[in-house]
Amino acid sequence: MQSFEYVRATGVRDAVTAATTDGETAFLAGGTTQVDLMKDGVLTPRVLIDITRLPLRGVVAGPDVLRVGALTTMEELAADPVVTRRLPVVRESLLLAASTQLRNMATIGGNLLQRTRCRYYRDLSCACNKRVPGAGCDAINGHHRMHAILGTSEHCVATHASDLAVALVALDATVRTSGASGERALPLSAFYQAPGDTPGVEHELRPGELITEVEVPLLPEGTRSGYLKVRDRASYEFALASAAVAIEVTDGVVRDARIALGGLATVPWRCHDAEDVLRGAPASEETYRAAADAALTGARPLPGNAFKVELGKRTVVRALSMVTEPQVTGPPE
Ligand code: SF4
Repeated sequence: MQSFEYVRATGVRDAVTAATTDGETAFLAGGTTQVDLMKDGVLTPRVLIDITRLPLRGVVAGPDVLRVGALTTMEELAADPVVTRRLPVVRESLLLAASTQLRNMATIGGNLLQRTRCRYYRDLSCACNKRVPGAGCDAINGHHRMHAILGTSEHCVATHASDLAVALVALDATVRTSGASGERALPLSAFYQAPGDTPGVEHELRPGELITEVEVPLLPEGTRSGYLKVRDRASYEFALASAAVAIEVTDGVVRDARIALGGLATVPWRCHDAEDVLRGAPASEETYRAAADAALTGARPLPGNAFKVELGKRTVVRALSMVTEPQVTGPPE
């Protein structure tokens, strides 16, 4: 591991002031992925600021919005009673993401900023434009079965790894930040950047800027939501395809819907066209199939991941069917 300067911050302003704005500073929270990447030499910060003591932990529910401190752990958010009752899509995305041990360490802020699982990114002997701009991309002509089919470029086809981010993009969550130039609120849907010509730039955070809080609008009462994750094994694994859905149905007609995809795109992928197909249409499998076709429009698969187009469509249909099927209730007492 490359040597670095270690700083322990005690307050948000403290942390932001200690951070350099030259891209050489990293913040350390749960460290569940970051420390591995530093050991492997993939991440080489000159200054590492430990933010684990900052007062950014906890969940506060208002009438319409849930405010989640960036240092809240995945397990704490999954166990929150309001999340359980009003935001099952968030709870399921967290529970399917990682083991209990990891959920007890990993933070919400860190989860949203986690790096891609592209094996070439993590192997210093491989060409990777995300790690070394202009180096090339060994995935495009290599093993890319797990890689993206939406939002790709000729420079990078890596998928975004966070399940939670997919659920939060579907819910129009907002990220609050603190940095050298003050505080900002960024809609999560505009936070992530597709690779384009600059795969190394993944999000809108400026160097030295810190996520402090995530605001999650609560779904209206009666809206059903869920997260379906398709993966190679039932135990903890990254998604081949996933869908976060929320849908409101009255008298058999879809009144409102939200869909975002994971495991298929370079960023958490909101499907507004698919939502438009659903609104006002009968809540039927035929409608869900039409929405799934719309969701995957524009997919550009590589030879090794062409199967993801049909898999993605089936994931959307199944996720919508799953949340709208009649609820099973127990016998009356
Ligand atoms: Fe790097 Fe992206 Fe290519 Fe993977 S897909 S090797 S992360 S440039």
